[in-house]
Amino acid sequence: MKKFDLLLDKIFGEREPIHEVECPVCGDFEIYYRHPVTKENLGRACEFCVFVQKFDTADIR
Ligand SMILES: [Zn+2]
Repeated sequence: MKKFDLLLDKIFGEREPIHEVECPVCGDFEIYYRHPVTKENLGRACEFCVFVQKFDTADIR
């Protein structure tokens, strides 16, 4: 398993990708994740930038 995946495991736990967008910083793919059971949005991450943002529940519309 990649180091970046381990980081996502630590931050998001169980997750599934919802969609990909072009990362505004590096042009690589930024992936949005949700929980596989609750379907709650978890956050987004770009592997190339090693950027991970966890959405707070209050931020979810
Ligand atoms: Zn990026």
